[in-house]
Amino acid sequence: MSLETHPTWMELDASALVHNLGEVRQRIGGGVRIIASVKANGYGHGIVPVARVLADAGVDMLATGSFAEALALRAAGVETPVLLLAGTLPGGMGDVVAQGFIPTIIDLAGAQAVNRAVSLAATAPTDIFIKVDSGLGRVGVALDAAQGLIAEIAGLPNVIVRGLYTHLSFQDADGMAYTEQRLALFYDLVQRLKAAGLDIPITQALASSALLLGWRDDCTAVCPGHILFGLNPVSAELAGVKPFHAALAAIKSRVIQVRDHAGGPEMGAGGYHGGRRQRRTAVAPCGLNDGYAPIGPGLDGVVLHGGHELRVIGVSLEHLTVEVPDAVHIAVGDELVIVGGDGPVALDRVARWQGRRPIDALMAFSARMPVKVV
Ligand SMILES: *Cc1c(COP(=O)(O)O)cnc(C)c1O
Repeated sequence: MSLETHPTWMELDASALVHNLGEVRQRIGGGVRIIASVKANGYGHGIVPVARVLADAGVDMLATGSFAEALALRAAGVETPVLLLAGTLPGGMGDVVAQGFIPTIIDLAGAQAVNRAVSLAATAPTDIFIKVDSGLGRVGVALDAAQGLIAEIAGLPNVIVRGLYTHLSFQDADGMAYTEQRLALFYDLVQRLKAAGLDIPITQALASSALLLGWRDDCTAVCPGHILFGLNPVSAELAGVKPFHAALAAIKSRVIQVRDHAGGPEMGAGGYHGGRRQRRTAVAPCGLNDGYAPIGPGLDGVVLHGGHELRVIGVSLEHLTVEVPDAVHIAVGDELVIVGGDGPVALDRVARWQGRRPIDALMAFSARMPVKVV
């Protein structure tokens, strides 16, 4: 498909991703594996291009939340092992195992379903990861009940407990003591299992927040997501994301029409151009369906055309309308930077005009956009 048919796209900075992976490597011990979290369409950067870059850079495993995304990776020829983060009913485990993805187990029923599926397929025992809920309160085996349950799961003949992981709760500095206390209990669980004869090869607790804070541990893997993309997983007060770089290079679109409206700048009280101050408008196919969102009341949103900021005057289902001062020369086909860089259209600024967080904006933008690796 040519971009001419819908000239709106995202540009992914491959070198930033590779740089960020290197930054993670520097923060962890030599033998520690990196499981790259590429869930949610690669945090809104396009799961296939992101996974290709990370796989080429030698990441050990990719983690995604959705079966469909895992299939897309295989269809794209990415051969790195794929861990499916919890999201599957027991009835789906047969498909997960048949595709060769590593399922995350969060209860006995899921483990039994894997065990049964392997037995029916008469294949070799399959690897599973078990997720422990250490305090986030979302999914996983409850920490307090974990030892007995994990022993029971490990006793199933057709499963191999290859990994054990948890996802820490980091809300703000106040919650830190709780996080540390629960983390200690997770490490204690790993030790108790080992003492009971179950030495699980891959253990993991640290993700972006902990790595930003410089935490290290004795687990054999880490699972970063946000920082690989240069995104801040926690409040800015807790930790910045330097020296990680933004993986989003830009979101761009091209002008499909330029029009001069009769009546000059003072016109435009009626119809669609409520707040128009300039005579000329330009339109790009980057509307709500492309992930743009309305600009909040009293705020000015802009896009960039060369060095010029053009004010957004309309966001509709399929189109973004901007106004163009007379001094700016603009033509059909010209490129507009919708999001990008640290300046006037930085992701966090655009997201702020739109009353959402950068990650929400990324989720919306990436749903339909093709991604070019730059
Ligand atoms: C999403 C996720 C991660 C990555 O978290 P970040 O904060 O993005 O680094 C790690 N582990 C699990 C289980 C996750 O679901």
